Amino acid sequence: MNETAYIALGSNLDNPQQQVLSAITALGALPETAIIAVSPWYRSTPMGPSDQPDYINGVAKLTTALSPHTLLKALQQIELSHHRVRKEHWGPRTLDLDILLYGNLTIEHPDLQVPHPGMAERNFVLRPLADIAPQLVLPNGIQLAELLEICPSEGIVRLSSGDIRGTTG
Ligand code: AMP
Repeated sequence: MNETAYIALGSNLDNPQQQVLSAITALGALPETAIIAVSPWYRSTPMGPSDQPDYINGVAKLTTALSPHTLLKALQQIELSHHRVRKEHWGPRTLDLDILLYGNLTIEHPDLQVPHPGMAERNFVLRPLADIAPQLVLPNGIQLAELLEICPSEGIVRLSSGDIRGTTG
């Protein structure tokens, strides 16, 4: 059965615009998976160590027949194919892909927590998610709009499509 999944994308190394666009292509090429929507892109200041470049962030909406764990493994393969090297926690990365939501499931597994535990505090996740799913309600019944209202809004800038293609900035 197909489920809707929302994937957060982030990159702050090696031409981040190119990284996230090529990640979208890779998501679209996953088996039994189709991309339904891609959010506008945002430039955000880094969490954690501030001596690193700004991030490019966005969210993709997928429909998929892959199980949550199979989808997670597939995302990790895409991260690896973008030469992601895990170094410091919160440190810079060429590509970060997180499962934000998978249908209406709540998953508490050592390798996979859904909804993604950090999403409520991350405006660079909530904003693009709300752009493509403004009416979204989380499995716990909380509305995305409520989370967005209480989440600090500083540190992110929405990019124009010209910015993300690298023609400016
Ligand atoms: P990060 O370094 O932030 O990409 O974290 C990667 C780790 O988070 C991996 O070991 C995953 O197993 C784990 N993880 C737990 N929940 C999720 C999720 N919803 N999406 C992606 N990775 C997750």
